[in-house]
Amino acid sequence: MVKRVHNFSAGPAVLPVEVLLEIQQELVSYKGKGLSVMEMSHRSVEFQAIMDDAINDVKSILNLGDDFEVLFLQGGASTQFFMIPLNFCPDDKVANYINTGAWATKALKEAAKNGKQMHVAASSEDKQFTYIPKQYTISENPAYLHITTNNTIRGTEFKTALDTGDIPLIADMSSNIMSKSIDAKKYALIYAGAQKNIGPAGTTLVIIRKDMIEKINPGLPTMMDYNTHISKSSMFNTPPCFAIYVVGRVLKWILAKGGLEAIEKINIEKANYVYDILDNSDFYEGTVVMEDRSMMNIPFRLPTEELEKKFIAESKEMGMLNLKGHRSVGGCRASLYNSLPMKAAQDLAQFMIEFEEKNK
Ligand SMILES: *Cc1c(COP(=O)(O)O)cnc(C)c1O
Repeated sequence: MVKRVHNFSAGPAVLPVEVLLEIQQELVSYKGKGLSVMEMSHRSVEFQAIMDDAINDVKSILNLGDDFEVLFLQGGASTQFFMIPLNFCPDDKVANYINTGAWATKALKEAAKNGKQMHVAASSEDKQFTYIPKQYTISENPAYLHITTNNTIRGTEFKTALDTGDIPLIADMSSNIMSKSIDAKKYALIYAGAQKNIGPAGTTLVIIRKDMIEKINPGLPTMMDYNTHISKSSMFNTPPCFAIYVVGRVLKWILAKGGLEAIEKINIEKANYVYDILDNSDFYEGTVVMEDRSMMNIPFRLPTEELEKKFIAESKEMGMLNLKGHRSVGGCRASLYNSLPMKAAQDLAQFMIEFEEKNK
């Protein structure tokens, strides 16, 4: 076996080793066809099957029926930041946002461009985004409400879907997509860059409820118009074939684990290894309010910045990578995405205990 590190990166992030080995097996000659997925036509029978499987598996994992379209696009979640207002906010309506962190801020800034009207329905900026606002005020004539279900940098997470009634609920789920069971039907649109929980960088999963299609603004540039991608099943232009193929294998891996209920159980157990230490220590300090803390990204501080540097350096020596907090907030952060093995969380917990013993 090749040696693997424990990779706590916030993204691009760890992939299941089983999936990597499968891909390695198939790399040079996919299903004995004599060529790799990177080299084949996106119009081939083989790639069509990869695409169809990926779409069906997304629907099956999230329990969605034929009233949803599943797309695999390019440009990252960041492209969705402006595609959403372009498509779904007409000039006489207002795009509503809950601001829970750096990514949400980037999303709402895009909605305030090009003459669009944007309203911040709630924000946790007053306390450095360390909590999820529990109340929000929607504007008049709302086009939709946008939320970021998991805040990758700050480590907070919406625990349940909001009930917005007739107002379309749109969610950036980049960093917690398929990490737990959710009621996906409540969302008018879900998007997620693949590179955190479901695959490599290069494709963005977009799920659109079909009743949204008639709301799409007319006259948009072709590639910016969701209609283009829906009508051509994500193949208007060459899709990121290899990234979609890897996502497809991760989806099969999720299904083989028993789907989202099973994944959620594992993720809770993993996160608890770290949270138990934060909760029982005067040395480590969690940085967000307990009820809103994320199962995916766990930021924490040590007593001094010097100790944090030492912690990061020593953990690296032990084969635990990317425990440094985001450059905008400092400190430490452990990202425990779906594909991170339980053993990695256990080893991190053990290391944290020993580090505290030696340095308190
Ligand atoms: C990483 C991240 C993004 C940005 O994704 P890109 O694919 O790099 O554009 C957006 N939103 C959230 C919540 C993220 O974690």
